[in-house]
Amino acid sequence: MQKFETARDAALALRPDRPLYAFRPSVLTADAGSFLSGFRGLTAYAVKTNGEDFVLDALARAGVSAFDVASPAEFAAARRASGSARLLYMHPVKAQSDVRLGLETYGIRSIAVDHEDEIAKVLRVVRAQDIPPGDITVFVRLATKGHAAYELSKKFGATPAHAVELLRRIDGIGFRAGLTFHVGSQVEDLAAYDRAVATAAWVRGRAGVPLAELDIGGGFPAPYGHDPKRPAPPPPDLGGLLARIQREIDDWGLGDLPLVAEPGRVIVARCLSVVVRVLLKKGQRLYINDGIWSSLSDSWTGKIMLPAQLIPDPARTRAKRNTAPRLAPFRVCGATCDSVDILTRPFWLPDTVATGDWIEIGHIGAYSLALRTHFNGFYPNDFVEVAAPFESTEGLEGVANVEPRAAMA
Ligand SMILES: *Cc1c(COP(=O)(O)O)cnc(C)c1O
Repeated sequence: MQKFETARDAALALRPDRPLYAFRPSVLTADAGSFLSGFRGLTAYAVKTNGEDFVLDALARAGVSAFDVASPAEFAAARRASGSARLLYMHPVKAQSDVRLGLETYGIRSIAVDHEDEIAKVLRVVRAQDIPPGDITVFVRLATKGHAAYELSKKFGATPAHAVELLRRIDGIGFRAGLTFHVGSQVEDLAAYDRAVATAAWVRGRAGVPLAELDIGGGFPAPYGHDPKRPAPPPPDLGGLLARIQREIDDWGLGDLPLVAEPGRVIVARCLSVVVRVLLKKGQRLYINDGIWSSLSDSWTGKIMLPAQLIPDPARTRAKRNTAPRLAPFRVCGATCDSVDILTRPFWLPDTVATGDWIEIGHIGAYSLALRTHFNGFYPNDFVEVAAPFESTEGLEGVANVEPRAAMA
């Protein structure tokens, strides 16, 4: 990757007509370090969030020694990054052949289930391969309730009573038993973790079998942009949230259990931005060369407001104006011909924005690269490495909606 101090420097040097990703390894290292130092248990990075080799390699170098994987391609990606990392296969619904591959070829010994048929898949491989069941930890995935940008418990998880039965079956076979939950992604209602921990305590008490580990999943919120017409919400406090979950775990008498967490978004969101170009400004609408079928689908499905800042094209002659630039909301239309390819949240940008300018969209490290499609023949895949964090980028005519107040003053 070519290296630049800021994404603006990269944009002005390369004048990209295709989306250009700006990777910030130092931000990734810092955010991984914050989680590793704030969490008492084992940090298993959720590979689906961003499974690029350069991300996994940087995480392994930053000290991440476990990965939450869900498919053969993710097993392989995590192994490429680290030959020794512990792989946890936490997808509750799996193909039989993938279970065999995971256990046989990748040495996976941690696996999640939410149904007895999934236990049977694991047992088949264990018997065929003569693996001691006591080497394997089978985690029962609990259904949970809460408010997150994404609710995942609608799809997966056993009810508490069912989880009790599953734990007894797992223990009866001779597997080690674990409990896990995943309360959603970009969790807004932090009490969702409290309720999940309480459910885990109830299930443990009822099941009456020894537990090897408690896995608290992912969902930890990352910082994004906000509507400048409203007071800025306080940024997510990861240390405070981890301390709160730990307190709940201790209060419910689960403090003796070794802990695992599966953070994704909170570790990688800030490490990547994308520099997009304004193909056309039509009134309050901006047509850009990216969109929901490329880097921005997470902001669309999760209704997430991304921070954005303008990089004006210095080569363009601008009409003289008597008024100072003002922040205005622009509707953002994507590159494809699809009529749903319009972002759900506006970008607040200086009203001087024009066709040919660039916009740097920050905090897109999570669920962007992994969700790119080839729809309409667009597939952005150009990368540069950038040293400065998105927030501290100086010298823009424009403003980020992370600090809109200062800009409007
Ligand atoms: C997606 C996922 C994660 C990561 O979630 P984030 O919200 O990105 O932290 C963790 N665990 C499981 C089981 C998941 O499906």
